[in-house]
Amino acid sequence: MIPLPEIEGAPWPEFKPGSVWLVGAGPGDPGLLTLHALNALRQADAVVYDALVDPRILALRRPEAELVEAGKRGGRPSAKQADISLKLVELARRGLRVLRLKGGDPFVFGRGGEEALVLAAEGIPFRVTPGITAAVAGLAYAGIPATHRGINASLAFLTGHDQNGETPAIDWEALSRGAPMLAIYMGLGHLPEISAALIRAGRSPEEPTAIVSNATLPHQKVLETTLARAAQEAAQAGIEPPALICVGPGVALRRFLAWREEEMGREEETGAAS
Ligand code: SAH
Repeated sequence: MIPLPEIEGAPWPEFKPGSVWLVGAGPGDPGLLTLHALNALRQADAVVYDALVDPRILALRRPEAELVEAGKRGGRPSAKQADISLKLVELARRGLRVLRLKGGDPFVFGRGGEEALVLAAEGIPFRVTPGITAAVAGLAYAGIPATHRGINASLAFLTGHDQNGETPAIDWEALSRGAPMLAIYMGLGHLPEISAALIRAGRSPEEPTAIVSNATLPHQKVLETTLARAAQEAAQAGIEPPALICVGPGVALRRFLAWREEEMGREEETGAAS
């Protein structure tokens, strides 16, 4: 088992039986896990995980820990969410240390807030540990600064998908004016509607756009396109989820900063595994 470093003045929290820790596992690359997440994996009796959590991260749990898959795709989302929250309550009431492990950050499009509200209402002690969210990781691994002096002083995280599977009710005009850099989660399915809404709201059809799929993983792919062509090119290229869509002038900096592709190219040349 990987040891945790001893850090003076920062003892590792003890996972109390009957409590739930909501923890972000990051975007995939196990190196982007936090030490708090590792501490949780080392103590948990039950790990309730989403489909997006990388198997190499799950493998860091105690061998005797119970594994419960929660994030199956499809089905009625609201019923499913209630089931997951009830499962957490049930496991905690059995006196287990329950680790709720989510892709990215638990409070960013992860429904962590909904689960925490149920735990709070049921009087179950909980702790929330952030993780590196897909937007932050996807931008970094694609070589696109999330903010850049002189280019953008704000950015917005948005979802392309609401709980009914529709394009969410977003004030596209306000968003277009207010956020020069957009990081769109769950946007692949509704990309034609999203790009059309942004262009109608005033964004340039020529605006640099990048679609980062499987960010931080060995099979990461980045498609560079424009807002107007994004949907068609993504379909033609067969881009697979999970994918993050980045829209903004800062995307153009990739031309100088695409370190990950360079690294992957070098690994291919030398035959090294990534
Ligand atoms: N809580 C997660 C988001 C869950 S929603 C977080 O903070 O990252 C799922 C969406 O996240 C996916 O549809 C995709 O848009 C994005 N995503 C998650 N992992 C990703 C990855 N490795 N590469 C690109 N996008 C990812």
